[in-house]
Amino acid sequence: MKSSLSYEQLKAAANQYGTPLYVYHAEKIQSQYQNLLTHFGNNHARFFYACKALTNIHILDLIKRIGCNVDCSSINEAKLALHVGFNPKNVLYTSNSVSFEEICEAVGLGIHVNIDSLSNLEKFGAKFGSNYPVGVRIRPNIMAGGNLKISTGHDKSKFGIPVTQIDELKAIQEKYAINIATLHIHTGSEIKDVQVFMLSADVFDALLSYFPSVNVLDFGGGFKVPYKPDEKGTDIALLGAEVNKVIEKLSAKYGRPLIAWFEPGKYMVSEAGYFLAQVNVLKKSGDIQFAGINTGLNHLIRPMFYDAYHYIDNISSPLKEKQNYAVVGNICETDTFAWDREIPEIKEQDILVFYNAGAYGYEMASNYNARYKPAQVLYENDQHKLISRRDNFEDLLHLQMPL
Ligand SMILES: *Cc1c(COP(=O)(O)O)cnc(C)c1O
Repeated sequence: MKSSLSYEQLKAAANQYGTPLYVYHAEKIQSQYQNLLTHFGNNHARFFYACKALTNIHILDLIKRIGCNVDCSSINEAKLALHVGFNPKNVLYTSNSVSFEEICEAVGLGIHVNIDSLSNLEKFGAKFGSNYPVGVRIRPNIMAGGNLKISTGHDKSKFGIPVTQIDELKAIQEKYAINIATLHIHTGSEIKDVQVFMLSADVFDALLSYFPSVNVLDFGGGFKVPYKPDEKGTDIALLGAEVNKVIEKLSAKYGRPLIAWFEPGKYMVSEAGYFLAQVNVLKKSGDIQFAGINTGLNHLIRPMFYDAYHYIDNISSPLKEKQNYAVVGNICETDTFAWDREIPEIKEQDILVFYNAGAYGYEMASNYNARYKPAQVLYENDQHKLISRRDNFEDLLHLQMPL
């Protein structure tokens, strides 16, 4: 199975649909999922694609077709999943700071909910008692992930119920006989070190005796993917082996069959995505050579938001000698995609590609500066199709009351 799109395929999409353009590769998403299945024992793990990374319904449909489950961060994501035909049993909703009404709505939809505050757990107990199995998200006080902005498990994070409040958690569970079926920990994004997941396993180990009804240990997502050419992602083979071991160990220790759940977002779609943009202007300033492109942080915010690195190539002339460029956007903000980056020599009108654009790319795009959001295209079986069109001028007006 081919694991990347060729320059020719990317050029064909740019020619047909124009730029800026997001292009996704179905087979890459499928092979990422297959890799997880290969390395985790079938009875030991289930995977829920954290769909906030990319929610287009054609991507969700692909996720469903390949047999993967889905994890949602809002009730509307859950509704999108049900809209494309997911069975509610295959949909997980990991809420944070949501209203209790939204949790009730999720229960009404029949999906599994992870509750992340004592306050909502108390309300849940009062309303549903032991009638609806539920998950609780624990904040383990572990520092992990690529950087503070994408870390969620440390002791100042808003996410989850602090592990230090276990007695209060247990008291609420007992008061209403709540059926806590799953424990959840998600420590952050871009976690390369497999041992971080083993720290979560230690926390689960410490909690399992409190919760005899728990049969699922949900380790969250956050697998790292390579962004730079020489970088390595999370070692999935090692992680699979370690998780299989720890699941067997804990199942034996507590005398009940346990299973691990994971919620990979980036891992599933990051590398399957390509963002194409055209160079509008070249501008020299001292040593700096700016390449100004027809997009900006309105379409790909990750470099400015998280200092994220995206590898950039020139698909119009990939074989030219490399020169150094500052790649900048066309938005009235400083929107630098890369400083001092080596890229094959650029001419105006050339098309650049940003790799790793599948996760949190289009999904975080906006109409800032009243620019149109890019179109999105999916390649599957070497055929491309439009999965969302570019905005037009009507779209900029359609929510506004007419003058
Ligand atoms: C964002 C998120 C994920 C996915 O994180 P990735 O880094 O994209 O894998 C998984 N679980 C929860 C609860 C999340 O909030």
